[in-house]
Amino acid sequence: MAQEDYYSVLGVDRNASDKEITSAYRKLAKKYHPDLNHEPGAEEKYKKVNEAYEVLHDKQKKAQYDQFGSAGVNGQGGFGGAGQGYSDFGGFGDFGDIFNDFFGGATGANQRRANPTAPTRGEDLDYTLSIDFMDAITGKKTQVSYTRSETCPTCKGNGAEKGTHPITCDKCNGTGYMTITQKSMLGVIRRQTVCDKCHGKGVIIEHPCQTCHGKGVIDNKNTIEVNIPAGIDNGQQLRYEGQGEAGKNGGPYGDLYISYRIKPSKDFERKGTTIYTTVPISFAQATLGDEINVKTVHGEKKLKIPAGTQPNKEFTLRGEGVPYLRGNGKGDQITTVQVQIPKSINEKQKQALVDFVKAGGGSITPQEKGFFERLKEKLQ
Ligand SMILES: [Zn+2]
Ligand SMILES: [Zn+2]
Repeated sequence: MAQEDYYSVLGVDRNASDKEITSAYRKLAKKYHPDLNHEPGAEEKYKKVNEAYEVLHDKQKKAQYDQFGSAGVNGQGGFGGAGQGYSDFGGFGDFGDIFNDFFGGATGANQRRANPTAPTRGEDLDYTLSIDFMDAITGKKTQVSYTRSETCPTCKGNGAEKGTHPITCDKCNGTGYMTITQKSMLGVIRRQTVCDKCHGKGVIIEHPCQTCHGKGVIDNKNTIEVNIPAGIDNGQQLRYEGQGEAGKNGGPYGDLYISYRIKPSKDFERKGTTIYTTVPISFAQATLGDEINVKTVHGEKKLKIPAGTQPNKEFTLRGEGVPYLRGNGKGDQITTVQVQIPKSINEKQKQALVDFVKAGGGSITPQEKGFFERLKEKLQ
């Protein structure tokens, strides 16, 4: 089976940051998760996504992969199939060490590998907050509740029952990995696999904590106050430090990213800090000029319509737009006038218009409405 490029598996650029890689991974993992997606091929895809993430998320493995690329992967294929030999790692997760063996590196693999008992930072969480159009203009505080993993309050995260402690695994000396020597047609291959006694944790918990069943974390509902800053725009994000998932082994919590989604308004359209509106004016107002009231996000404002205003003329109301997120001041409102032609007028208005045309030296023959059109109007 040809090995797909890990970057294309996750659909990210080769220069993608760890955050971008993680975000792409989460989306795809959710999409193909076997519990959620029962389509044929989804599970296979899920495995691939995990495999790619395991490598690209790990600085060292990523560097190895970037350096050796598919050469290493092909090499693996040649040695009896990744599916068998390395399945302990849930795929190629550990081929850094295989490289080590193949390329003659004898620099203790255990030192390079992350210590399973070292403090690790918790995962970041994303939350999409849907907000009203006007709240994004005026700003507001609101509460957000979501479920996250928290350090178990009973065992303080070590997973052991009160009065007991996790003990270092004696099979792997706390490294979480053990070395297996295997004979193949090319000679002896040393490879490392997850410790089968502690399952990679490096510690054994003889008396698991009753609250968290030895996991060290529990799911809990977290409620925080979230700021909607005046001027926030659709898709913008704010980070709430330490409001993500619990870390492992006493590591810090991850962060929470709030993404803002602004609901549309029936009165206003917004592009950045500019507000767009339309306002109807009559043919007479456009011709003679007038002062009208215009809705803005800051209340009704007067707008002067000069005599001779043409249809679809845009007026700029300076400083009546969206507040700048940074610094003082506001954007503008742009209001387009829609000149209305009356659909029906009375006899007096009609005569006045005929006189209007005559006064300009023209002539006009008003079209009388047919019987059916008049009937239609009556019935409306
Ligand atoms: Zn516990
Ligand atoms: Zn062990």
